[in-house]
Amino acid sequence: MKQTILVTGGAGYIGSHTCVELLAAGHEVVVLDNLSNSRRSALDRIARIAGCGLGFPLPVAVDPRPTASGVEPVGRSFSAPSPVAVNPRPTASGVEPVGDSFSAPTPVAVNPRPTTSGVEPVGRSFSAPSPVAVNPRPTSGIESNPESGLHFVEADVRDAGALDALFAAHRIDAVIHFAGLKSVGESVQQPLRYYDNNVGGTLALLAAMRRANVHRIVFSSSATVYAGDGQPPFREDSALGPANPYGRTKLMIEQILTDLAASAPEWKVVLLRYFNPAGAHESGILGEDPKGIPNNLMPCVSQVAVGRLAQLEVFGNDYPTPDGTGVRDYIHVVDLAVGHVAALGAIEQLPAVSTLNLGTGRGVSVLELVKAFERACGRPVPYRIAPRRPGDAAVNYSDPAEAARRLGWRATRDLDAMCRDAWRWQQWQAQHAAEL
Ligand code: NAD
Ligand code: UDP
Repeated sequence: MKQTILVTGGAGYIGSHTCVELLAAGHEVVVLDNLSNSRRSALDRIARIAGCGLGFPLPVAVDPRPTASGVEPVGRSFSAPSPVAVNPRPTASGVEPVGDSFSAPTPVAVNPRPTTSGVEPVGRSFSAPSPVAVNPRPTSGIESNPESGLHFVEADVRDAGALDALFAAHRIDAVIHFAGLKSVGESVQQPLRYYDNNVGGTLALLAAMRRANVHRIVFSSSATVYAGDGQPPFREDSALGPANPYGRTKLMIEQILTDLAASAPEWKVVLLRYFNPAGAHESGILGEDPKGIPNNLMPCVSQVAVGRLAQLEVFGNDYPTPDGTGVRDYIHVVDLAVGHVAALGAIEQLPAVSTLNLGTGRGVSVLELVKAFERACGRPVPYRIAPRRPGDAAVNYSDPAEAARRLGWRATRDLDAMCRDAWRWQQWQAQHAAEL
């Protein structure tokens, strides 16, 4: 059944891939993001993959409720959209092959979404956009791309006014809550910022949901909630004990959501504990785009392979693992995204609160991942052995059986696919830096 889903943090890494899968499943998607760790162009690329050439910024700023909400745009100035930012869809899938330069855009030559893209049109009538009818300052702060079913609000999730305006403008069926800060090291340095953004943001969101009578939420939790000295594979009932402020924000939010669901029967909550998301969309135009120097292994390996970083530092080779390097459960970001769609599809049948691991159940060492990446990119990835990173566990992987049982979902993409897709994305970024 077609639904309208609010995706907070939907311009980010996992959120953007989830938007693609939601649109492909026929849902309407409203993204709320303050772009603190993402780019506006991600919205454009989501729309392109979804099979519609119209992107963001829009050739027409569509704001069907120019004054009703009375709410000022939040945290941004709405720049006048370009009348020519339209890419004619070159292939049946709606996705440009990587490495091609986009052909000169035209303001009107836009195809309605083809069913060959795997994306069913969902009852919207297509109207050719006017390149000039621009409302440069929609007072609701909502930008819409009706052709792709994608809407965007640039706002902070702690902004109650922006949330109320959004819920007034769209009849939201469920929320997927990605918006948050995610750097473990940064959370140790700036704990108040993390508690404010992650916990404070969730409280503001839940209060707005309650005001709007929206009671379905899927939350991005993390394997970091498990006790580091626990014995993998981690099951949902394994001992908890996050080792840093970031992990504690995740556990606190899990507890808040659990208390909320216990307080009123109308709530349905799904807590998804991700293991190590990796890879990119197979189109090569969407992927992880960290601002600053990346912390995680896969983006570091990618940046070494493309020559942006000189060499990888392997944090320790004296762990009790087969090759001495740390072992993690890497999961393709598209599998993760599909898991969210599955969670939404099952939410009515699930208990009031469900906690589910999203992982593959397979552990991969740092050096195994480096070797797989070298196969994918066809060049060596230079590395040196460095000291262990403080706080790192030796081995961390999931037992994903509960998600398979509850959602009928399991990860299907392997490590080679993750590396291949991450490499394609890395190359696209290098070639299209100016577009990002
Ligand atoms: P990301 O940084 O790419 O995406 C997060 C998005 O949220 C960004 O677009 C950012 O601009 C936005 N955002 C942050 N604070 C906001 C706020 N206050 N208001 C509005 N927007 C805000 O991160 P990601 O990897 O896509 O992670 C998404 C979620 O999944 C996060 O909650 C993260 O903690 C969780 N998670 C990520 C991983 C991982 O390894 N990537 C693992 C486990 C859990
Ligand atoms: N790692 C590494 N070099 C890096 C980044 C990470 O050797 O530049 C190792 C890290 O020690 C761990 C694994 O790669 O064993 C995964 O680290 P990541 O930060 O991606 O995920 P997490 O440790 O949060 O699970």
